[in-house]
Amino acid sequence: MTERSFGAISEPLKLLIVNLEIIMRTYRLIAPAKINLYLEIIGDRPDGYHELVMILQSIELGDQIEIRSNGTQTINLHCNHPLVPRNQTNISYRAAQLMVDQFPERFANYGGVDITIDKQIPVAAGLAGGSTDGAAVLLGLNLLWELGLTIPQLQSLGEKLGSDVPFCVRGGTAIATGRGEKLDPIQDLDSLWVVLAKYNNLSVSTPWAYKTYKQQFGHTYINDLTGIQSRSSQLHSGSFVQAISDKDGKKIGQLLQNDLEKVVLPEYPQVAQLKEILQQAGGLGTMMSGSGPTIFTLCQSQSEAETIKKTARQAIQDPNLEFWVTQLSSNGIQVI
Ligand code: ATP
Repeated sequence: MTERSFGAISEPLKLLIVNLEIIMRTYRLIAPAKINLYLEIIGDRPDGYHELVMILQSIELGDQIEIRSNGTQTINLHCNHPLVPRNQTNISYRAAQLMVDQFPERFANYGGVDITIDKQIPVAAGLAGGSTDGAAVLLGLNLLWELGLTIPQLQSLGEKLGSDVPFCVRGGTAIATGRGEKLDPIQDLDSLWVVLAKYNNLSVSTPWAYKTYKQQFGHTYINDLTGIQSRSSQLHSGSFVQAISDKDGKKIGQLLQNDLEKVVLPEYPQVAQLKEILQQAGGLGTMMSGSGPTIFTLCQSQSEAETIKKTARQAIQDPNLEFWVTQLSSNGIQVI
């Protein structure tokens, strides 16, 4: 904190002002979305989730989160998006509640917070919009309450909120295994650009996508631990990770994979058609992100991405179809 002049006020009052300034702070954070460059479902887990092998990638498109001390003992949530719940089911609220439960003395000393989400990431789109907001609240409260938690400590708290939260804390490019919470950061891939496309009147339920996949492809699941570990090490030492270290955009585009497309695209022909049109429009490769329904095309440059967006927009003149052009990013949550 910078030195400041208090004029002719008493020492106890000065101390009170300084303490109030520490307690009544505001942090603004950027919470980036992610895309899945690779998503392979390899089996069942005893906890009801799926055993996955993924490559996760942060993108520049992000929500803005403000966390402001409110001097009360309550958590209040504000959000500008009609589809985002403004109650205790919001993952940001759950993140704040988790911090309250873990650090009750800090909550008692520093008080509650007003969390304001400026939603830029499309909702229920397979882009981890909720998870990244949750990660931002963990980081914001760590700063506001002067907890000094490390990134790995914040990630293990994040695991309690959702499988994508640990990745969102640190961001960048990473191999994710288990239910997505075990992370191995790999070479950053921030030079490429991406066009995202999503119908704003369409959302896919993640539990539905995994349940349907299991019904249709459960017979292919690997059940033994050695088999699961070997799938994971195949990806670690395989050509996709090599292409990322080589920053070989062309190869990366060819190797994109998402098993969930096998159930989502047949159920949503509009999304399948969108994928086809984006694929024909060019770029390095086109794929659905997470459980969809967002489709993305990787591109070498911003101008290539803008051209693809324009071509796809001309081919599908549906006012519900939205596009975003953004860059891959090496960042997780950032304080601004
Ligand atoms: P993932 O890729 O992690 O599966 P997603 O991108 O498909 O997530 P989200 O945008 O996180 O989906 O939204 C999923 C649901 O979570 C929404 O329908 C919404 O009701 C709920 N939700 C709770 N908190 C949030 C939040 N902060 N932002 C967006 N959605 C939220």
